[in-house]
Amino acid sequence: MLTSAKIQQLVSVAFASAPRPEDFASACSCPECADVNLSFQSCDDTLPPGLAWKLPLLSPDAVRYLMPQLVRNCLCDDADDDLCWNFVTMLGEPVSKSAPPDYLRFASTFDRGQFAATLAFLKFIHADWYSEAEPAPKDVIRGIRNWEHFVERATGDWCSETIVSSLTYFSKRP
Ligand SMILES: [Zn+2]
Repeated sequence: MLTSAKIQQLVSVAFASAPRPEDFASACSCPECADVNLSFQSCDDTLPPGLAWKLPLLSPDAVRYLMPQLVRNCLCDDADDDLCWNFVTMLGEPVSKSAPPDYLRFASTFDRGQFAATLAFLKFIHADWYSEAEPAPKDVIRGIRNWEHFVERATGDWCSETIVSSLTYFSKRP
C-alpha cells in the first residue's frame, strides 16, 4: 500500500496547477457565503476555523484549490476531525444521475489525474482506517465506487496519465 506521505505527494502534484480562486464560495450574496470569502481572505493559505461546517458552500474551483490541504488535514497527527470526516463524507456523496450524468458538482472542474489522486486517497483511508472488525462506513465504499467511475470517464493530459498509471499499479496489489 502507498504510504500516507506518498498519498499527500500524489494529491499535491495532481492539484498543483489549480489556481487560487478570488472568492471561495459560489457566486451568492447570502451572509454565510460572504463569511466564507472573508474567512479565506484573512487566513492566507491555512484552512480557516469552522470550515468543517461550510464545505457545501465552497465553489468547485475552491474545492479543487484546497484539495491538498483538505487531504493533509485528514492524514496529519493533529487533524481537525470534524473537517476530516465532513470532507470524506462529501467525497462519498451520492452522485447525481441527472444532468450532467453521474456527477458531483464540487468536482466538476477536476481532470483525470485529480480524480485519480482523490481515488487513491479514498482507497488509502479505506485500507488504513478500517478492518474486518471495524468495516468502512457506506460513504467511503460509495466514494471509492463513484471515483473509480470518474477516473474511467475522465480525459487527461500527459501528467495526469502518469499519475493514473502509477495508481493502476497500486490498485492491482493485494
Ligand atoms: Zn450563499
